[in-house]
Amino acid sequence: MHYDVIIIGAGPGGIFATYELLQKAPSLKIAVFEAGRELAKRQCPIDGEKIKSCIHCQTCSIMSGFGGAGAFSDGKYNITNDFGGTLYEYIGQREAISLMEYVDRINLSHGGEGTKLYSTAGSDLKKLCMQHKLKLLDASVRHLGTDINYIVLGNLYEELKDKVSFFFETPVLHLKKTDEGFQIFAASDSHTCRSCIISVGRSGSKWMEQVCTELDIPTESNRVDLGVRVELPAELFSHLTDELYESKIVYRTEKFEDLVRTFCMNPRGIVVNENTNGIVTVNGHSFEDPAKQTDNTNFALLVSKHFSEPFKDSNGYGESIARLSNMLGGGVLVQRFGDLVRGRRSTNKRIAENFVIPTLQAEPGDISLVLPKRILDGIIEMIYALDKIAPGTANDDTLLYGVEVKFYNMQVKVDEHLESCHKGLYIIGDGSGVTHSLSHASASGAFVAREIAKQSE
Ligand SMILES: Cc1cc2nc3c(=O)[nH]c(=O)nc-3n(C[C@H](O)[C@H](O)[C@H](O)COP(=O)(O)OP(=O)(O)OC[C@H]3O[C@@H](n4cnc5c(N)ncnc54)[C@H](O)[C@@H]3O)c2cc1C
Repeated sequence: MHYDVIIIGAGPGGIFATYELLQKAPSLKIAVFEAGRELAKRQCPIDGEKIKSCIHCQTCSIMSGFGGAGAFSDGKYNITNDFGGTLYEYIGQREAISLMEYVDRINLSHGGEGTKLYSTAGSDLKKLCMQHKLKLLDASVRHLGTDINYIVLGNLYEELKDKVSFFFETPVLHLKKTDEGFQIFAASDSHTCRSCIISVGRSGSKWMEQVCTELDIPTESNRVDLGVRVELPAELFSHLTDELYESKIVYRTEKFEDLVRTFCMNPRGIVVNENTNGIVTVNGHSFEDPAKQTDNTNFALLVSKHFSEPFKDSNGYGESIARLSNMLGGGVLVQRFGDLVRGRRSTNKRIAENFVIPTLQAEPGDISLVLPKRILDGIIEMIYALDKIAPGTANDDTLLYGVEVKFYNMQVKVDEHLESCHKGLYIIGDGSGVTHSLSHASASGAFVAREIAKQSE
């Protein structure tokens, strides 16, 4: 079958590319190929009773399928150029923000109306952070919440499904350049197209690497972020989360001058497992629906590491550390902050007696046996710094889950149109290494759709 445009991957990047193509060039024939299932069929087998931990499904329903890695996420759309990717370096600051605002409007009109937009503008918390050697980054945050995010995705799918051809559970195995465009190969058939948008996200990183090698597309290594997820009573952070919801706070350590930052804050949320290519790490969710909320808030504390010469494999480094934690704990480890600073492991008894009740069943252990000293020292320093703006953060009962790893795709060389060295081949979203957030990935999709629509006029 021949299409005008083939989109590989139905995460936020692929969805917004599809959506925008239908708005700007409705006559184009479009197909979307997705390795995972359609939204309603995405189901992680972990039920907390019969299946308590990850059983390593062939295609992970948390990471793959319509909605991509973001489908069961907290749905925090950060409208900012300060973090979440470097899209602005390619398309300009103003265009990037304008597209993120456009994505926000589409989300609102598809079920997200009534959700709250938080902003750091004019907040007194900035001053409080500065007084304690912490820096609060600027952003507006639309918090859809896991439940509304799912509804928005469902509504978008309903709108798109009859206008484009969706192929679910159909991973693209191979991509070939032809005289007229591109040919993609799935397990049982092949299809051709004039333009191709690759938006395969983090889960498609290995495949993306293969495509870049085969088509001679230059790449560079990217960073990896390593750290822990902190869980504490929601009241301790409520002055931050009530006003800002998600506060991105950065701290420069005194010992090594490393930067440690908060990431993915989930007020009254839950801590969850995440499976990336068979490695179990930790993440967090929260809900708009008060009935699903908990008494705890969780967030990650992360340190970035970037290797270039002679060792280049930043992700491999992160994977090895995550594997080590999986080896010791069979999955994610949990430790009381009080146990960590006393140099002892947490035990089932100590966790059972802890004032903060964990929202994820993880193996009590010793995170200091997993994380490199330099990273752990930085995290401990930051916990004490946060204790000054949110007293209680450094309490013995604060829980630390490890490890949290944020993998980044290698940086694929694309130009200011997000087009690779092959005309008509666009590489967007987290798979390109350009973005690493819902809003930036979605904006990159809308951007390339407009580029393709302009050319087809
Ligand atoms: C638990 C969790 C919570 C998160 N919370 C937030 C948040 O609150 N805010 C935020 O900004 N970001 C969050 N993120 C990150 C965010 O989800 C990603 O940045 C975003 O989804 C990237 O979009 P994408 O379209 O580039 O890739 P993805 O969402 O990863 O989608 C890529 C899709 O491509 C498919 N695919 C891969 N390879 C192939 C192939 N060969 N053929 C066909 N299909 C393929 C995959 O199955 C996947 O569905 C979270 C991530 C996780 C895992």
